[in-house]
Amino acid sequence: MIQLHDKFFKPFLSEKQIQQAVFRIAEEIALDYKDQTPIFVGVLNGSFMFVSDFLKAYQHPCEVSFVKLSSYQGLTSTGIVETLLDLPENIEGRSVIILEDIIDTGRTLQELVHLFANTNVKEFKIASLFYKSEVYNGEYVIDYFGLEIPDRFIVGYGLDYNELGRNLKEVYQLNQKHMINLVLFGKPGAGKGTQAAFLKEKYNLKHISTGDVFRYNIKNGTALGTLAKSYIDKGDLVPDEVTIKMLEDEVEKNPDADGFIFDGFPRTAAQAEALDNFLESKDMKINATIALEANDEILISRLLERGKVSGRSDDQDVEKIRNRFDEYNLKTAPLKEYYEEQNKFYSVDGIGTIEEITSRLTKVIQGL
Ligand code: AMP
Repeated sequence: MIQLHDKFFKPFLSEKQIQQAVFRIAEEIALDYKDQTPIFVGVLNGSFMFVSDFLKAYQHPCEVSFVKLSSYQGLTSTGIVETLLDLPENIEGRSVIILEDIIDTGRTLQELVHLFANTNVKEFKIASLFYKSEVYNGEYVIDYFGLEIPDRFIVGYGLDYNELGRNLKEVYQLNQKHMINLVLFGKPGAGKGTQAAFLKEKYNLKHISTGDVFRYNIKNGTALGTLAKSYIDKGDLVPDEVTIKMLEDEVEKNPDADGFIFDGFPRTAAQAEALDNFLESKDMKINATIALEANDEILISRLLERGKVSGRSDDQDVEKIRNRFDEYNLKTAPLKEYYEEQNKFYSVDGIGTIEEITSRLTKVIQGL
């Protein structure tokens, strides 16, 4: 185990495994290009080690050059990519092969393709040492890759965590054993949001409330918000595929989190399974599902009270509230068994002062 900045990383790929992958790509490309003089274009900073080892393995005529993109600026409104180091000269009519260290979502790749869009190259190919097929958006064909890897945060062999780790000969992955991931379970009004606010501070967790994300999108008039609004206004659940995708995006936005509190998700069997599969692909898991229990009459009076303050229309109408309870009983309550089978289900009395309930929850978490 090694430490870089505040995080721990464990071995993932040995020097030998990496070198074999580099050789494989070099051989494959040689088969296609040994009779020409291609230009290899490394994408800085991450690819420098790969390019160096690749060229040592590629013993045929070739040229080499580098580009460097301003990583997170993306396309400007004019459609021009911000480049820090520009395209090689005289590439017109030549075969260009991009050498990337890693392709994950494909965002950088999109910038690269735009960068080369108006050059009259003969051929434009993409080679990447590592390739995260699970998260890649699939927009362009990856012509050559060394190793397909799961969606883990990796460092070493040119790849960094906040600039550290590039000089490692091996590749390491983030050690996420110490994460705490909680599902807060319970009917609308059970106090999930209130308690999440305390727990996230206490345990330094990222709180994801799917209801809040929907409301944020509605407020900002996004396409997602418009779609969700019709369901939420009636107290119906938003369709699974929409909600699952949104939840995954929220997790992806926080790769450095020490753990997550899922509040209002999962609400259906399909969501629970999708969550497990998604977390597993990231070497993460749910540690506990904690249910806040309270009876319907108390919940209804809490929700009506909240509706007066927040202005949420789904909290102001007893009919809509009852429909949300029906949705819960029908689709969400069965998840209790799903988590019981995994020995992860804990029930907590949700009646009492906020502090009393926080201390009941804390007890469960400390016992994990
Ligand atoms: P909440 O704030 O958690 O009570 O959620 C408010 C509304 O957002 C719900 O009544 C649903 O319409 C929608 N919603 C929130 N989370 C989910 C979810 N996991 N699945 C489907 N719909 C959801």
